[in-house]
Amino acid sequence: MDVRVRFAPSPTGALHIGGVRTALYNYLLARKHKGTMILRVEDTDQNRYVPGAEDYIVNSLKWVGIQIDEGLEPRIRQSERKEIYKEYVSKLVETGHAYYAYDTSEDLEEERKKDPNFQYDAKTRMRLNNSLAGKKSDGPSVIRFKTPSNVDVTVNDLIRGEVTFNTSQVDDKVLMKSDGMPTYHLANVVDDHLMRISHVIRGEEWLPSAPLHVLLYKAFGWEDTMPRFAHLPLLLKPDGNGKLSKRDADKAGFPIFPLNWQESIGYKEAGYLPEAIINFLVLLGWNPGTEQEIFSMDELIEAFSLERINKAGAKFDIQKAQWFNQQYIRKKGPEMVEFLMANRSDCDRQKAERIVEVLKDRVTFQKDFLTMGKFFFEAPTTYDDVLNKKWSPAADLFFTKLEEVLRRNPDPAAFKMNIEVAASETNVKSGSMMQILRVAITGGTAGPDLVSSMEILGAPEVADRIQKVIEYGKKGK
Ligand code: GLU
Repeated sequence: MDVRVRFAPSPTGALHIGGVRTALYNYLLARKHKGTMILRVEDTDQNRYVPGAEDYIVNSLKWVGIQIDEGLEPRIRQSERKEIYKEYVSKLVETGHAYYAYDTSEDLEEERKKDPNFQYDAKTRMRLNNSLAGKKSDGPSVIRFKTPSNVDVTVNDLIRGEVTFNTSQVDDKVLMKSDGMPTYHLANVVDDHLMRISHVIRGEEWLPSAPLHVLLYKAFGWEDTMPRFAHLPLLLKPDGNGKLSKRDADKAGFPIFPLNWQESIGYKEAGYLPEAIINFLVLLGWNPGTEQEIFSMDELIEAFSLERINKAGAKFDIQKAQWFNQQYIRKKGPEMVEFLMANRSDCDRQKAERIVEVLKDRVTFQKDFLTMGKFFFEAPTTYDDVLNKKWSPAADLFFTKLEEVLRRNPDPAAFKMNIEVAASETNVKSGSMMQILRVAITGGTAGPDLVSSMEILGAPEVADRIQKVIEYGKKGK
């Protein structure tokens, strides 16, 4: 089977992170079957068009590594295909599957006032202002689909199985607006047919539209080549209570967009690696059937199948995204070395390598190398309270001795020994001094392995920092 899939965003704003997941599943299926990934910009709703959104979508896909085979150059935009939709909708009118309607919005408003459940359908259409009812007009008109009355339409969804809808719930949808622009339904079905799309993989919110699409395929006589449908589970709020929205993400303090958009910070700018985002997103709704969690894009292409997509919504757990980021940062030692050198002019390669080595299991984001690693370049200017609380005559004695020992023997390999020497000469337990030592060196109580950190700093610098703390301790007490 020739697998041809499309990602069909509407440029009405920034791409939501859930949209990236939809694009990803399409891409994985295409690559797995050596098929084609198409980008189609569904920009027929001119009122909702947002300048910049299309480029934003393209850049976001590029950032996460989703490659487009068709539709990028030249760009496929529905707004530029108006004539095609006109031609196809005329066929539906000719075959009696669609009709012209002349009702004004005031007319329809009036109907709704009379009956709040009013629907333009088989029950009402013959008394309204349209060509089926024998009306004619030179004024503005729309073209509506003549939805067959009271039949069951079954959508065979690859994720949900058979989903049946009765057409009595479906109104006669507008296919072509009075300005000659197609609506989503018409353009979507015509394009999926003309572009020989094999699988329509999209969000669950489009499931209610699927029966209409099936009816359109039938009306066009394209039933035999109709694409297969796969409606993806929703992304849920972290507590599982309803669909994830931008507001939920803002409230919980995590990004909702892949890249910066207006005032909103994107995943990229927040410090997430594209590999981590891909890995995190793919598992929101799909499972490999094994315990494996870390997947490269190539491994995903190999492992992916639509059958393993879950029906149930997936809870959005940002901690999991951070965990993936951590895993990928660990794998990227050499890149982190370059990053550190690029951001600290006072850091040579050897020092950068050693810092990355001691920090790499502790950081979540690349920028943490700069914050957690600041003490490697600058002596602390403030100290954790614990220093005041724990400072004692014994500490004064011990640190005075330690400073002296370090000045005498600055061998960077001798820190452990020097600490023990100072401890035995002052009769103080070294273990009870380690927390103060850490505060003296780093300013805080948590951080990477202390001895390794001191080795990187070197004995003279460590001795200077200890000297400062002795003065501070004397003043503080
Ligand atoms: N333009 C629709 C969207 O923005 C596409 C839905 C579909 O894939 O059919 O999501």
